[in-house]
Amino acid sequence: MRFSKAFIPTLKENPADAEIPSHQLMIRSGMIRQLAAGIYSELPFGWRSAKKAMQIVREEMDRIGAQELFLPSLNPIEVWEETGRAAGFGDELFRLEDRKGRGMCLAPTHEEIICDIARGFIKSYRDLPQIWYQLQTKMRDEPRPRSGVLRGRQFIMKDSYSLDIDQAGLDKSYELHSQAYHRIFERCGLEFFVVGASSGLMGGTGSQEFMVASEHGEDRVALCPGCGYAANLEVAASRAIPIADPDEGDSEIEKVSTPDTRTIEEVSKFLKVKPERLIKTLVIISEEKPVMLLIAGDDDLEEAKLQGVLGAPFRPAHPEEIEELFGCEAGFLGPVNAPQMPIIADSRIMGGKHRITGANENHFHITGVEVGRHFKPDQAANLRAARSGEGCPNCQETLRVTNAIEIGHIFKLGTKYSSAMGAKFLDANGKEQPIIMGSYGIGIARIIACAIESNHDKDGIIWPLSLTPYEIVLIGINMKEAEVSIQTEALYADLLNQGFDVLFDDRDLRPGFKFKDADLLGIPYQIVISPKTIAEDKVEFKQRNSGARQVIKLEEALQIIRG
Ligand code: ATP
Ligand code: MG
Repeated sequence: MRFSKAFIPTLKENPADAEIPSHQLMIRSGMIRQLAAGIYSELPFGWRSAKKAMQIVREEMDRIGAQELFLPSLNPIEVWEETGRAAGFGDELFRLEDRKGRGMCLAPTHEEIICDIARGFIKSYRDLPQIWYQLQTKMRDEPRPRSGVLRGRQFIMKDSYSLDIDQAGLDKSYELHSQAYHRIFERCGLEFFVVGASSGLMGGTGSQEFMVASEHGEDRVALCPGCGYAANLEVAASRAIPIADPDEGDSEIEKVSTPDTRTIEEVSKFLKVKPERLIKTLVIISEEKPVMLLIAGDDDLEEAKLQGVLGAPFRPAHPEEIEELFGCEAGFLGPVNAPQMPIIADSRIMGGKHRITGANENHFHITGVEVGRHFKPDQAANLRAARSGEGCPNCQETLRVTNAIEIGHIFKLGTKYSSAMGAKFLDANGKEQPIIMGSYGIGIARIIACAIESNHDKDGIIWPLSLTPYEIVLIGINMKEAEVSIQTEALYADLLNQGFDVLFDDRDLRPGFKFKDADLLGIPYQIVISPKTIAEDKVEFKQRNSGARQVIKLEEALQIIRG
């Protein structure tokens, strides 16, 4: 491609609304343009890179015997009602009506459509196993679209689905995907790790996420440097540091005045006790009924764990609902003399004495609370987020918690969707069984954005060879000089003939300007031809990753590139 004819709208300045490097650089290098929050156009320079990522994904999916298909984005809502996910996805599901007033939605994922196909065609165990995949646009009305293409409301996903007759078959399909994912992300030059994950809304029996460490990631993961334990905080276990209760004999409750102290911080300051000795009382509504949650004052509730314990969706109770139930504000709630409702306590507070809770009366707390004596939780469970510095659940090391970006996710779904939708087969004994499913996703834009997050400097992108939009940028200096024009044109034609992806900067612009663009675009190899290099019968050769600049024979430069 000739730069003079190319549509690569580069920008000198960082766009005001882009906060993270990949977002800034994708806009500055003319890869994408935002149309609305979380909705992006892929411009030619960006699309070339996306196509390379998709090609790698296709090759590795084909390699495990997966077959590519293409499913509709526009779906009748009834299909989603069959599995309950029309409601389950909530506001994340884009809904619309067709001209006849029929309910429709834009597919956020495709398990339901796969089940619909399977129930139409799969009859017997002889028709299985199958693995089907697609590269398709997904729509999700994400609550907080941000960080550029990392969290779009429309994005391309490679999603695949395995259909098996038994658990062993599912294990095999899952393992094949795990291998394919390792190869895909390795080929994309990403430094990734795999963590145990929550199955969330999808349901199922096991799942793992492929992660790239990044301070800008929205996921939090716990890693053990000792045994390699790695888990998303949504499910991570840890050996929590026990709460030290004072040795003050029997724990007797006493109501104390705590005017205007509502938060853990305010109460712990006012009463001069460590936050861990406070019991935080939260009220949620699940299946239209209130549930009380108790966790230590210095802990955070991990919603995904709670979701797993409840097995049903939930939401925080509104302030009015709390007033009506307890007759006080949310800042003064506690389990002692509380209205009747199920109590789930985090295991870390169990057995505690001399603890402090709200008194269910505005501006009062109670001290000297003993868990199990002054109130009895209905259930103890792990509800808290693991923290850096806590013990690994599998060895004696301590955990480190870090931010990461999820690039891929593999799920053992089991029969949740096939049972709900009647996707069955006849087994070898002629008995009807639900198909056992797996589902597997990769975000294409997340691959690209992660590659940029991990490979850039102050001047711009530093592409890995596998994803770069062009391999070589050929820069002519002083293009008006006949000799420069002749030599660069000849070399451009030659490089194309040799099968390289070349961007030929034939623009009549200042050298400094062209070099800046070349560094910003991050193409791995720069070949510069100027009157000076021609006089020496050499070229200037720069490798973007090391920044090394050499004046060498063209053939030498090409040898390095071929290597
Ligand atoms: P997240 O927790 O980040 O919302 P998810 O669990 O909803 O992700 P999946 O439904 O498992 O994601 O989707 C599979 C893959 O699709 C993810 O691993 C990710 O790479 C990509 N993906 C998911 N949501 C988005 C999004 N909003 N924008 C871009 N890519 C996405
Ligand atoms: Mg999501």
